Order: sequence, then C-alpha cells, then structure tokens
Amino acid sequence: MSDLSQSVSSRRGAISPRVLLAVLATAIASFAFAPIEVPAESAPATPDEAIKALMDGNKRFVKQKMSAHEIELDRAKLAAGQAPFAAVIRCADSRVAPEICFDQPLGHLFVCAVAGNIPTLEGIASLEYGVAVLGTKLIVVMGHSECGAVDAAIKHRDDTSVLPGSLPQLIDQIISPCAMTVEPNEPNALAKVVECNANMGVSELIRRSPVIKEAVASGNLKVIAGVQDLASGVFKITRR
Ligand SMILES: [Zn+2]
Repeated sequence: MSDLSQSVSSRRGAISPRVLLAVLATAIASFAFAPIEVPAESAPATPDEAIKALMDGNKRFVKQKMSAHEIELDRAKLAAGQAPFAAVIRCADSRVAPEICFDQPLGHLFVCAVAGNIPTLEGIASLEYGVAVLGTKLIVVMGHSECGAVDAAIKHRDDTSVLPGSLPQLIDQIISPCAMTVEPNEPNALAKVVECNANMGVSELIRRSPVIKEAVASGNLKVIAGVQDLASGVFKITRR
C-alpha cells in the first residue's frame, strides 16, 4: 500500500486517500471480472489427450467445480468457425448433457442426440462430417443409467409393436444385440443392457462408416463407449 502510494505520489504529486481507494477498487474489480483462461486440457491434439480432457472435465462436474461455462465467450471467434476435439452420440434424455457432464464450453464438442444413443444413418453421417471436415479426434458413444429407451427394449423385447409411432424401429436396434442377452427380471438387467448398447455403438460406427474406420486405422481417431451414472454424475469408460 505504501509503495503504491509513494509511487503514485511521486509521479502525480499529492493524491488523496479517496482517489487512491478508487484506483485500488477499480484494479480489484477488473481482476475479479477478467476472462478465465481456458483450461490447457481443453484443446487436445490427440485422441488420448481428448479422452483425458473429457475425464478431467467429468471430475470437475462430479465435484461441482465446473469452469468451462465461466469462460468469457469470444462469440465472433465462435461464429467464424469450429474445431471440436470430440464428438458424442448421446441419448435424447433431458438429464444427459455432454457439455455439462464433461465441463466443456461451446465449440469443443460435436454432439448428436437420439433416444438410446443409437448410431442411426443420420447420426453416422453427422459424425463423419465431424471427423472428416472438422478434425474431431474422439467419438464417444455415451450411454446413461436409467435409460428409458433401453428399458423399453428390455420390457418389449418380444413384441415392440405395442409401442407408438416409429418407436418400434428405434427400439428394435437395441433388442437383438443387447436386450436378448439378459433376462428381463435379472439383477442389474438395465445397467447391463445400457453398457452393452453403448459398447455395441462403437462396433456399429466402425462397421458402417468407412470414414470412421479409416480414421481409427490411421491413429487420428479413437471411438470409445461409456456410461454416465445420473445419480453421481460419474462417467465410466466401458470400451476403448
Ligand atoms: Zn436414455
């Protein structure tokens, strides 16, 4: 305090305590509202760095110490282009939000949503755009606990025609590879099928997309699966 006071006084002559206080208050205020630096892990250059960035973000989410959404947005820069380091297929469930779960700001994640996180044709095409055009390093097939689509697949595995509208066509894609592997009443049937369905998504993406398969083979892309536990927020990788 005295050094600053002397310094100001020596340059500008006498200065009143009130003015000095105002100068300090302005300095403190500008520090408090300065833009928060983007965490270093938020611009990964490799698939493994991308995985680490997401898992570090999930740890912040679980601890409720999130930082990504406090970053002062450069909207003009965001509007000029995008280079999301990871893509996610997530369920449409309102409780699942990758940007929040992985604590990532706008522009970092390329997200496709469909009930049951099933890789539909449109979803695969979207991911191909992310990989081939935007340079995405990682694809995450993101399942979650208490998934209604997976639950429907287990409950109606013998006859989906009772479901309304187009739901049978969607739910059928969970049944044959996964829902038939459990007995509907066995313990943890839902959790088992959720994990199976997420893991199966990885196989499907690589099997059905030459673009994704080639990027994985070249080492520029990894495709992983995982499940978010809604109660704890923890995202656990189930296949990598
Ligand atoms: Zn779901």
